[in-house]
Amino acid sequence: MTAVDRVLPRLRGVKKVARGWVATCPAHDDNDPSLSVGEEHGRALLNCFGGCPTLRVLEALGLRMADLFDDNTTTPGGHPLPPPPPRTEPTAKERDRVAWALQTTGPITDQGAAYLKSRGLEADAAASNDVLSSANWIERGPAVVFLARSPAGEVVGAQGRLLDPGEGPKALSIGPTSLGAYATDSAWSHKIVAITEAPLDALSLAVCGLPSIALLGTAVRPWLPEALHARRVLLATDGDVPGTAAARKIHSMLPKGTTFERIGWSGCKDANEMLQEVPDSLLRLVRSYTGGP
Ligand SMILES: [Zn+2]
Repeated sequence: MTAVDRVLPRLRGVKKVARGWVATCPAHDDNDPSLSVGEEHGRALLNCFGGCPTLRVLEALGLRMADLFDDNTTTPGGHPLPPPPPRTEPTAKERDRVAWALQTTGPITDQGAAYLKSRGLEADAAASNDVLSSANWIERGPAVVFLARSPAGEVVGAQGRLLDPGEGPKALSIGPTSLGAYATDSAWSHKIVAITEAPLDALSLAVCGLPSIALLGTAVRPWLPEALHARRVLLATDGDVPGTAAARKIHSMLPKGTTFERIGWSGCKDANEMLQEVPDSLLRLVRSYTGGP
């Protein structure tokens, strides 16, 4: 398998262009394809025009640097590559970065509340589910911030949705968010839990009474099997091809004793779209799974 064959199926909105391919960048909220993928001398080249570092793009794809080489089992010097060590905690440097970014955060502001409202969500509900406002998120302006916690409860990072993104990315993350996820209240322990890609989808389901974990992407996290053990899991990733593929992958790693169902979005892309377009239908959908009144 070439490196490009490894990378392209994991991307959304892939188009062939003269010098390779373009796709939407998985590391930021990207509507206009800004990730270029090239191929050169036995390796894949990634470049996000929105400014995401390659490591962050790889992290969002669930790949390592070595996976950018056609032969990902040896180093460029021909030595066998050891499997990557499993990581469960941020480094000291990462913790400092996260703490620096979180210094700008506080309770949800009027501007943050207005943004949430535009997405069909109340600020009060967000505030009780690990959502904050930032006056100047990563020095890019005001944002609504979703905390990412490890299954043990440590804040490992956060994703900020910029309120005035201009031309740049709409969402910017800090810290090794793959070591955790955005989780709504009681989502780490409740007997029924939904898994989504985006925080807004998790929050949309939570306000309808379904605790949810947002993976902040489609990459499957190594801690998932343990966190989901013996629970009832509703796979609520997006209704498109990568979302369905992610649901299948999560399903394949669920441990014995875990029950699961795939949520269908009946024509909508995801939970938040359904909440905005037909609020009652999301509530009814959730109740059809949770057995609520
Ligand atoms: Zn990017």
